Amino acid sequence: MTELTYHYVALTDTGLRRTDNEDSGFASKNLLVIADGMGGAAAGEVASSETMHVIRKLDRELEGDAIEALAGAVSRANDRLGELIEEDPAVEGMGTTLDALLWDGKKFAMAHIGDSRAYRLRDGKLTQISDDHTFVQSLVDEGRLTPEEARHHPHRSLILRALLGRDDNDPDISTVEAKLGDRYLLCSDGLSDMVDDNVIEATLGVETIDFAATELIRLALEGGGYDNVTVVIAEMVAAETPIDETLSSSNGQPQLVGAAAGQHRPRTGRSADPVARAKGDAAKDDVPAKPLDPEEVRYMSRPPSSRRWVRWAVGLLVLAAILGGAGKIAYDWSQKQYFVATDNGMVTIFRGVHAEIPGVKLENVDTVTNIDVSTLPEFRRKQVRSGIEASSRADAQDIVDNLGQFVTPAPAPAATPSPTPTPTAKTTRADIQTTSQRLVEDS
Ligand code: CA
Repeated sequence: MTELTYHYVALTDTGLRRTDNEDSGFASKNLLVIADGMGGAAAGEVASSETMHVIRKLDRELEGDAIEALAGAVSRANDRLGELIEEDPAVEGMGTTLDALLWDGKKFAMAHIGDSRAYRLRDGKLTQISDDHTFVQSLVDEGRLTPEEARHHPHRSLILRALLGRDDNDPDISTVEAKLGDRYLLCSDGLSDMVDDNVIEATLGVETIDFAATELIRLALEGGGYDNVTVVIAEMVAAETPIDETLSSSNGQPQLVGAAAGQHRPRTGRSADPVARAKGDAAKDDVPAKPLDPEEVRYMSRPPSSRRWVRWAVGLLVLAAILGGAGKIAYDWSQKQYFVATDNGMVTIFRGVHAEIPGVKLENVDTVTNIDVSTLPEFRRKQVRSGIEASSRADAQDIVDNLGQFVTPAPAPAATPSPTPTPTAKTTRADIQTTSQRLVEDS
């Protein structure tokens, strides 16, 4: 059997609509990685580049099992994000997708979380070898949406799993058996959202992977360039294939691109820089109906567990203030706070703070909506049940309006045609052996 290695290329572009690149890409003879960061005020850059720097330490002679090494590195990257969030609560909610392929000389260990994609091109046929951890994919899996509907769904970029520095989001870990001539593509959603799979298939097959990379980026920009776009491509070649110094894909040098390759920009929060803030506010006046940036709603930005703790702590503080004599001020303050939770199974706006202290009530029902919690998808249900904080009454209404878009009527029991099979060729993955080594099962 031919001994294999691969040539590789990593390329990124900020795109036409964004000013920052929150993607990071890496390629070397041992390792291929992509990370698409998210979180406002440059936190996405931090999440993607910090994750990349931890994972990149695998780029050396492999000791032991590739699956173990990769799973360990992902766990360390996640811990690193957790540390950063603990040090600076302002970046809470930042996170990143991750796709990583670690070569052990015969096969790849693969880690995947989020909606960045891994594809394989074999004998001219493209197969997606990662599952999108997205809301729309979960609806496709349940037969409620066709893949084509998912492609155009307003919430297609909402992801259900990402590295968030918490212990409840685990990557899929699997093994990928490579063959001579295979090409592998890791890409951020800035490519897969803008370019159809059949076009990716044709383009990935062009003569050299260097050309394929530039063509894919060009096509993403041509398709709108709404997001950062990053591609990492590998081509399996015989180990004795000579190095070609003229091609970046085969000169043997590691390639690091995107956020992880640049300096972190200092975060400029809205309140931190009065000039930028004033400009921002002025710009807002010019464009009254600025559409919501999809990156801002990509994932659950209000982690229920920690927020629950925050509310509990706030409740204690208010209580302490009341007992300590600053009662009226503290109580008045508490009554200007809002949150969305449930009342008798209905989504409800509450005024006050949820003290969660026996015998203490600092909350009042403001409005009971007509949204039955049981009609929401499970993750939204959980979120509402543990309460979603709002910054104002209007914000609480926005949260409710947003939840309203997730209401799914129970599917009609009869006359439902069987869903179109997904084109992601799930059934042709004979050679991708998902191991039982999911780090921890979803709780
Ligand atoms: Ca993206």
